[in-house]
Amino acid sequence: MAFGWIDQQVRVRTRRGLVRTLRPRPADSPLLDLASNDYLGLTRHPEVVEGAARAARTWGGGSTGSRLVTGTTELHAQLERELADFCGFEAALVFSSGYAANLAAVTALAPLRSLVVSDVGNHASLIDGCRLARGTSQVVEHADPDAVRKALQTHEGPGPAVFVSDTVFSVDGDAAPLAAHAEACREYGAGLVLDDAHGLGVLGDGGRGAPHAAGLAGADDVVVTVTLSKSLGSQGGAVLGPARVIDHLVNTARTFIFDTGLAPAAAGAALSALRLLRREPERAARAREVAAELHARLTAAGHEAVRPDAAVVSVRAPSPEGAVQWAADCRAAGLSVGCFRPPSVPDGISRLRLTARADLSEAQIERAVRVIGETRP
Ligand code: PMP
Repeated sequence: MAFGWIDQQVRVRTRRGLVRTLRPRPADSPLLDLASNDYLGLTRHPEVVEGAARAARTWGGGSTGSRLVTGTTELHAQLERELADFCGFEAALVFSSGYAANLAAVTALAPLRSLVVSDVGNHASLIDGCRLARGTSQVVEHADPDAVRKALQTHEGPGPAVFVSDTVFSVDGDAAPLAAHAEACREYGAGLVLDDAHGLGVLGDGGRGAPHAAGLAGADDVVVTVTLSKSLGSQGGAVLGPARVIDHLVNTARTFIFDTGLAPAAAGAALSALRLLRREPERAARAREVAAELHARLTAAGHEAVRPDAAVVSVRAPSPEGAVQWAADCRAAGLSVGCFRPPSVPDGISRLRLTARADLSEAQIERAVRVIGETRP
């Protein structure tokens, strides 16, 4: 039977208790949410919802085509201008997801006979970008500018070189040493591509992101990718950078050219969220504060938690099975948490992954820490 070979894999997963299932979330879930990426609590904000509704009423349910044909509305152009301006870059290009934005940035900037250097902790979408790129890719140790230097040294050309890294790593929530990475890249004339999915809205002045905080916004050798699906409470992604890079993406990036443009409702929601963030910059600082408080309380209670650099708090679990059970027990006690275990973690260490939302109250933080303690395996 053509697909019979899948059953053997299913048996192994079942034996280890690692089968993934989809669980539809009700609109009025009673669970306390520390699992979503809605860092600023904006996804249900009336202005964000209205931004989506207004856009759908004006432009329809879909964008009707690829961006180069009929899929670019005035809303897309406005969102691109305001995103670029907010984060301090010359230009921006909006994609249907952060995943597609990362595939575009890496493949378009790592042509034939180039070198693309990639941090071992990078998100799957950057890894897939490296796999799809025509250049050679080299994976280097985590958050290590000297390892980047060593890799860049090996490049004999004639194509360009580029280093790609998350700004905040999605598994442990630790930040990359951006200024040191930029220095390493500049020594070799290499470009720097930073995925700020977890930095936008949380780090930097008023949430302008990790590259802005590191003084890299607007640099002519830096390109940043973001998602609209976390802090901005919507859906979609974007690449920000020098106008020449953005024009190059418009002309060459396959996930831009051959993909239907972002749905107007998603663009409208993201634009409203961005304007809200400009008006209420304190939301970014509050998300960081909640993360620090969660971390402090968890470590005081004896948990092994990584000190958060942004809004992701990672708590070590004893085993993959233990992590799954722990997350299930939290859920049964009314708390929704993320659970990372092999194969989605490269180091084989299983964790609970908590997201610190800016709109969590003190009582909710206290309750979350209590439930995590009571359910510990
Ligand atoms: N980069 C990172 C670091 C992410 O965590 C994610 C989302 N999980 C993405 C990229 C992909 O973004 P999107 O969900 O918008 O496709």
